[in-house]
Amino acid sequence: ELSEVPLEITGLTKRYGKSAGRYAVRDLSFRVEKGQVLGLLGPNGAGKTTALRMLMGLVAPDEGEIRIYGHAVRPGAPVLSRVGSFVEGPGFLPHLSGRTNLELYWAATGRPPGDAHIEQALEIAGLGEALGRPVRTYSQGMRQRLAIAQAMLGLPDLLILDEPTNGLDPPQIREMREVMIRYAAEGRTVIVSSHLLAEVEQTCTHLVVMDRGRLVRADTVTEITGSGETLLIGIDGP
Ligand code: ATP
Repeated sequence: ELSEVPLEITGLTKRYGKSAGRYAVRDLSFRVEKGQVLGLLGPNGAGKTTALRMLMGLVAPDEGEIRIYGHAVRPGAPVLSRVGSFVEGPGFLPHLSGRTNLELYWAATGRPPGDAHIEQALEIAGLGEALGRPVRTYSQGMRQRLAIAQAMLGLPDLLILDEPTNGLDPPQIREMREVMIRYAAEGRTVIVSSHLLAEVEQTCTHLVVMDRGRLVRADTVTEITGSGETLLIGIDGP
């Protein structure tokens, strides 16, 4: 049953609303191979967050199956140590340093102490000497990178990031892009959501384009950006 395929989802469906009649995610199927940086792209409301929350085991699908390295994912199932995830910036303790916040978080996960992975995650996140400063002195971009560093602790083989560039300005977005590229450079697998093609096209190897819960296209970035087609996503609303 074990597999080296980071992610395989089949027929994933989630409905909300009155008698669960609205589809947030509808019959979504795709597969992510080792070493890919997969961008989940789509306008607001396309279902990206819902899809990623199902992958993280935070939301139960109505239908479909999720396998991460061959393990079936469902809420309540143990979180695989091979997976790190970032959802909306978590709260840090503002008066403590970035480094101390991460050390406390790591200790709270109950995994063995040791600094090597913390140092590596911090280095990839590129926070430099700011790490020793209290988090309350950080800019939003720095907090966001600290949150990404937290998701990278233990250097998980698969990193899942929900809109890590949300609320950042262009220089901070570029820094975030560098962080993802550094992380993926060592053959790790990354899944990242965004609503802007420009944000992910230089980072990602592959794209899954979603609109109104459905998969619109899945291909390499080169195929998608080179095809000259317009990505018709979310232009005329639901
Ligand atoms: P965004 O970029 O705004 O986060 P998204 O692509 O991540 O958009 P989702 O947040 O997954 O999209 O939302 C998809 C649809 O599902 C939306 O219509 C949203 O209103 C609905 N939805 C999501 N979560 C819930 C919930 N807990 N209860 C009811 N409806 C929900």
